[in-house]
Amino acid sequence: MANKIPRLNAREQDPAVRATNFEEVSYGFTAEEAQAEASRCLNCRNKPCVAQCPVSIQIPEFISEVLQGNFATAASIIARDSLLPSVCGRVCPQESQCEGACVLGIKGEPVNIGKLERYVGDWALEAAALGISATEADHPSKPAPNGHRVAIVGSGPAGLTCASDLAQMGYEVTIFEALHRPGGVLVYGIPEFRLPKERIVAREIAKIEALGVHIETDIIIGRTLTIDQLLDPPAQGGEGFDAVFVGSGAGLPYFMGIPGENLNGVVSANEFLTRANLMRAFDECYDTPIFVGAHTVVVGGGNVAMDAVRTAARLGSKASIVYRRSEAELPARVEEVHHAREEGIDFQLLTNPVEILGDERGWVRAVRCVRMELCEADSSGRRSPVEIAGSEFEIECESVIMALGTSPNPLIASTTDGLDTNRRGCLIADEAGSTTRAGVFAGGDAVTGAATVILAMGAGRRAARAIDQYVRTKSAR
Ligand SMILES: Cc1cc2nc3c(=O)[nH]c(=O)nc-3n(C[C@H](O)[C@H](O)[C@H](O)COP(=O)(O)OP(=O)(O)OC[C@H]3O[C@@H](n4cnc5c(N)ncnc54)[C@H](O)[C@@H]3O)c2cc1C
Ligand code: SF4
Repeated sequence: MANKIPRLNAREQDPAVRATNFEEVSYGFTAEEAQAEASRCLNCRNKPCVAQCPVSIQIPEFISEVLQGNFATAASIIARDSLLPSVCGRVCPQESQCEGACVLGIKGEPVNIGKLERYVGDWALEAAALGISATEADHPSKPAPNGHRVAIVGSGPAGLTCASDLAQMGYEVTIFEALHRPGGVLVYGIPEFRLPKERIVAREIAKIEALGVHIETDIIIGRTLTIDQLLDPPAQGGEGFDAVFVGSGAGLPYFMGIPGENLNGVVSANEFLTRANLMRAFDECYDTPIFVGAHTVVVGGGNVAMDAVRTAARLGSKASIVYRRSEAELPARVEEVHHAREEGIDFQLLTNPVEILGDERGWVRAVRCVRMELCEADSSGRRSPVEIAGSEFEIECESVIMALGTSPNPLIASTTDGLDTNRRGCLIADEAGSTTRAGVFAGGDAVTGAATVILAMGAGRRAARAIDQYVRTKSAR
């Protein structure tokens, strides 16, 4: 279990410099660095890292190929289980998945699996762009059409994975996307400084389009077309798809319900990040309006809150996180919290907003907060925050961003007969993705509520298998 070589972390932009730009924070590994880090892997026989990967990437197998410098083979191994390695290498919470299980982490530091995956993913994208590689990973084979058509709603990780898998089985696949660019949260939510849009996301999507997947943007299912219209036969004026996969995510933001939330200067993190990322408000070539005052308060402690607060800081605002629990409970990835701290973000922990205060023109002027403490753990082991009496204070600010979580938009369920939701508004679907309506499958955040990229990809993959089985059974009748 011993390994004397210290973990290699990728080089990063200087915090003081990167806090003023939107370029990627981490430079990733060079080939030499990737091989050096790969040499730390013990190639464990029982592969605890694989067991903790939600899509079971054969981690030691691909790392062995990196060690040998066989990057194309490493890319092919990852491609068997993951469609978007350059994305996952950047955004997966490795510390609680593969790296959290790595045996080297017991007495030291785990193998840097995330940065190795990112290196291999980027290598394959670069090689494909230069036309110098023709591995299965870069150009998965495009089989003969099987004569069946599937519609996918939403082009996030769930929809893209489902589409790619079905296309590789011979289906004619069309993705319908409400926004003007495909990618879901990968383009509208996660900022450029964590996940470059042109260099990474657009190229990953181009790989899927190269399989013949057709993407129609600016189409809102439930408005422009309904699920019924997608499934109805052409003779009845429908589109005649054999099945539909709903991967419409969870884009509806929660608010706190405290006084002052309707003041000018209060926005949801989703709106703020969409303006910044999808509509490139940070780029002076675009005239998308975005407002940050001299001081921005972001309420929440997850990845979305970290992305919003770091974006506000890059737009020139002093930026604070207000979170009602302590550092240990922050749900954001450890790396994101670390980066935010390095960039000078102010953390007001064990603090809860109770009111947003406005000026005479109806704009935010401050947030009234109370300090919290964590009480004894209950039977579930969870320590709830309770207010400290008399601890009220105000944080002066001009903008407040609410990053409290999201739920699925009710549009699709409310316009589709027989498509049931649970009390949180999530579509009800089984493990394979079958919903309560025959021929309609679902997965990703639309089913689980806000979760992770890799879980959405896993759901898209399982649903592709279930759709294939459904269509075969139906056509055999
Ligand atoms: C700011 C932010 C940061 C995050 N950071 C991380 C991270 O670091 N690591 C991580 O693993 N996860 C992260 N997540 C979560 C992760 O991005 C999501 O869990 C994942 O994207 C869910 O994928 P999905 O395909 O289910 O949905 P989405 O990615 O939400 O995609 C759904 C797509 O469906 C489209 N759509 C919705 N309704 C319709 C309709 N009616 N008709 C047509 N199209 C429709 C939407 O426009 C969208 O493009 C983050 C999320 C956010 C918001
Ligand atoms: S647990 Fe760690 S050391 Fe063992 S195979 Fe996985 S990455 Fe390598």
